[in-house]
Amino acid sequence: MEQVPAIIGDVAALALGACVGSFAVTVAYRLPRDISIATPRSFCESCERPVPWWANIPIFAYLASRGRCLMCGAPIRARHLGGELALALAALYLYVNFPPGNAIARFIFITLLLISSLVDYDWRLIPNLITFPGVPVGFVLAALLMPEVGWQDSLIGIAAGGGLLFVTGYLYQLVRGQEGVGLGDVFLLAMVGAFIGWQGVLFTLFFGALLGSIGGLAVGLFGTPTAAPELPPGAREAMAAPSPVVPGAAGAQAGAAAAVSIDQQAPDSAAAENEEHALLSTAVPFGPFLSLAAGFYALFQPQLTSWYLSR
Ligand SMILES: [Zn+2]
Repeated sequence: MEQVPAIIGDVAALALGACVGSFAVTVAYRLPRDISIATPRSFCESCERPVPWWANIPIFAYLASRGRCLMCGAPIRARHLGGELALALAALYLYVNFPPGNAIARFIFITLLLISSLVDYDWRLIPNLITFPGVPVGFVLAALLMPEVGWQDSLIGIAAGGGLLFVTGYLYQLVRGQEGVGLGDVFLLAMVGAFIGWQGVLFTLFFGALLGSIGGLAVGLFGTPTAAPELPPGAREAMAAPSPVVPGAAGAQAGAAAAVSIDQQAPDSAAAENEEHALLSTAVPFGPFLSLAAGFYALFQPQLTSWYLSR
């Protein structure tokens, strides 16, 4: 009898994680486009017709339709399957390894990280609509449900995450005369600090930068950095950073928009120079790498802490 409920719990965690993953991918699509999360039911991103009810079943629907819209045949982006699988596995891992409240707090954090990463990847802009509320929510959850973090580390984490990156970005701006760290990254790091404390911030900064360098190098060597697309005008106010404190740091979109116009007109040598600049600054969105490191820490904090303390 003991075995049956355990398996039911595992399956429930997987299913819940997959559903939230599906929801997160949808939010990441709708938020920048200023589409309500509630009103239009799921629709195909290509033909915009509503999908049949069963196509909302995570993972299975993607596999059953072989990743294509049944109505227009357009490919469904693999992030639907990836997001559902990732959060399903995260939910199962957290359910098995943490007390329920602690697991839910960490799962909420990872969900917020996934949404901001997808938006940042698409638009080079971290949605403040996610990271702003994430700071107080993270603080409350860390204080009440995450004894490995607690309210003190969370509070220091908010200051360290927001402050450290803000100062780094400001110095970079002074030295290089261009924006190196968007304010979106600052708010993201403040949310990271709220959820996983200042130790998590240090881990995230170090490994996020490491992953980001590898990613930037890979793009520089094998790929062509693509400019960020223009954000729909209605969504701009909701998404963009409020009045910037750093002079000229009006958010990644201004720089990205400039990069687009330069890329289109600049011939050979200027283009190469721009490409080099782009590689140094915002050719690769930094947010997803930070989020990857932060999510890793949220999952494996006990192991990472004991490993670190044992040295
Ligand atoms: Zn379609």
